[in-house]
Amino acid sequence: MNKIIKVLIIEDERKISNFVKRGLIEEGYEVDAVFTGEEALGKIEEKEYNLIILDLMLPDMNGFDICKNIRDKGIQSSILMLTARNSIEDRIKGLDIGADDYLTKPFVIGELISRMRALLRRGPSVVDGNISVGDLSLNTKTHEVFRAGKLVELSQKEFSILEYMMVNEGVVLTRTMIEDHAWDYEFDSFSNVVDVYIRMLRKKIDDGYKNKIIKTVRGVGYKVKG
Ligand code: CA
Repeated sequence: MNKIIKVLIIEDERKISNFVKRGLIEEGYEVDAVFTGEEALGKIEEKEYNLIILDLMLPDMNGFDICKNIRDKGIQSSILMLTARNSIEDRIKGLDIGADDYLTKPFVIGELISRMRALLRRGPSVVDGNISVGDLSLNTKTHEVFRAGKLVELSQKEFSILEYMMVNEGVVLTRTMIEDHAWDYEFDSFSNVVDVYIRMLRKKIDDGYKNKIIKTVRGVGYKVKG
């Protein structure tokens, strides 16, 4: 029998909360939803969750305080924050105080689920902001990337794409998912900008190494694997 994964959604926007809850229940998760910080803290005391989806903007408390409170209590649940677009400071702050990953609004349910799977697979947390895939490591706090111990210089966009792929190690990401993650605007569907960035990343990360970390999944997209 499969283990049931328990998820808590802390989000005051009913529309988002309901849409996420429905999607996760369809995937077989056990889901509770609360709409305020106070309710959230109560729920966390009474039940153990594998994963907590935490919106940063709540009517009575902010998500950072809730996140800090959860970690101060020694609770190890994975925490996935929901943040507004373009708030890089929020993401960094969140990761610093113990969130494991973030997702920017608006998002599609498929992306949320793939992030959740990656988090649940990888266990409670990214140690000190370090994510590793094979001999490639990326630090979400210092924004440094190393391949086989050698520093790799990446542009901000390249970093953002690589981070997204590494968080989702082993998960095939479509061009659309990568675009949605890394850019705020819509591309026309014939744009090959993702391919261009992948080519640049390969040059910096895989060139000269026998083991290629960025893999092409023909007809679908890309994934990273150690
Ligand atoms: Ca909100």
